[in-house]
Amino acid sequence: MRGKFRTQLTFALALIVFVTVALISILANTFINMEFEKYAKAQQQSHANDIATNLSRQYNSITGKWNIEYIHGVGMSALYDGYLIRLMDLPGNVVWDAENHDMATCTQVMMDIISRMEKKRPGLSGGFVTQEYDLKPNGQKVGSVAIQYYGPYFLSESDFHFLDSLNLISVIVGSLALLCSVVVGGLLARRISRPIIKTAHIATQIAEGNYKIRFDGTIKSRELDELVAAVNHMAASLDNQEGLRKRLTTDVAHELRTPLTAVASHLEAMIEGLWEITPQRLQSCYEEIGRISGLVADLEQLAKVENENLRLKKSDVDLRTLINTVVGNFETESAKKNLSVSVDGTETHVNADKDRLNQVFANLLSNAIKYTPENGKIHVSIRDMDKNGVVMIEDSGIGIPEKDLPFIFERFYRADKSRSRSTGGAGIGLTIVKSIVSAHGGTIMAGQGGGQGSRFTVTLPKS
Ligand code: ADP
Repeated sequence: MRGKFRTQLTFALALIVFVTVALISILANTFINMEFEKYAKAQQQSHANDIATNLSRQYNSITGKWNIEYIHGVGMSALYDGYLIRLMDLPGNVVWDAENHDMATCTQVMMDIISRMEKKRPGLSGGFVTQEYDLKPNGQKVGSVAIQYYGPYFLSESDFHFLDSLNLISVIVGSLALLCSVVVGGLLARRISRPIIKTAHIATQIAEGNYKIRFDGTIKSRELDELVAAVNHMAASLDNQEGLRKRLTTDVAHELRTPLTAVASHLEAMIEGLWEITPQRLQSCYEEIGRISGLVADLEQLAKVENENLRLKKSDVDLRTLINTVVGNFETESAKKNLSVSVDGTETHVNADKDRLNQVFANLLSNAIKYTPENGKIHVSIRDMDKNGVVMIEDSGIGIPEKDLPFIFERFYRADKSRSRSTGGAGIGLTIVKSIVSAHGGTIMAGQGGGQGSRFTVTLPKS
């Protein structure tokens, strides 16, 4: 069964604390009890020894008499502590015997100890044992004492009370720790689960098409912060994609509408007899249709490039040879405008798709020719760098305004719409160029040339 993350986390934390506290309590208790019993045993031995030593001093060797009064005091006090004493002189006559003296109290003390010990320590199987001590006040035996007490050890009422208090304390500490762990665990779980729940909600919103949504606010945990950043990034790129898609549709519609309207109105006027059908008018219609076909062809090519970029036929390509071929292909066009086209640079080999690169440089050179007025200059230089081959195409043309530089690689973007329309471009050439260069893992940058013209720099990795 899948429970709530927060409950699971709280429960897990509480369980850990509970097990830890329980383990500590049990171990501490066992250890304390063991030590206490050891201490009680040692204490009993030493107490019995003390009694024997004390009694041995009560014999007067000069008179040969025992100090019965004192012995009685010691014996009665020992009796209340759980020790039954029988003192005998050297010949073995009883001098003082607790049982003879106060049978009732003796029985009472013994019963008390037995019932207490059997109740509190049922597994101990103890009983009263007797220990004999010789009384030798000056190294010479004057008698003996038999001390009877509960063995292997016995604990008084207050000893048991002390041990019970310890147990109670560990139970209280355990309960408090458990309570604290539930509260702290709950708070912690809430802190962790809140951003996760919020992120899940945002992801659902994104799935439903709300790409504008973002997670704002700070998160203290690094992993969660990374998760949130990834979701925000995904939303941003989907938003961007969505924007591009919408713009592509409106742009295509817009690009097609202008020439279509022109052709339609011209033809309509001719059909209705408002316009005389002349070869010039038909030519104008033909040109407009040509523009539409060009646009469709451009779009087709872009789609093809974007699809096929995944399947590059790479081989060793010398950029200088390639550039010379492309420049050669444009010789007639550049000659028409009397442009001087120069190439410099060394042999530079890159691993690339030759046909695609041909298209890249053909587009760039065609633009350079298109946007450079008559008698201008175009210069192409090739540089063999450490890991890359770099091609720079500079022209002395009209240049690209600074504000347009970030956008010229986008579909249908034209720095000067009206002017570019007359040159026939639809603003797709550079999009194709960038797509091919990126597919090769390279980069393309546009900027201002040495003069007022433009400069395009293509960097292609060698491998
Ligand atoms: P187009 O078909 O309009 O030439 P491109 O994608 O090739 O489309 O170029 C986009 C725009 O970038 C052009 O419309 C033009 O404004 C500008 N541009 C590209 N190359 C040059 C250049 N060499 N000199 C000046 N402007 C350029």
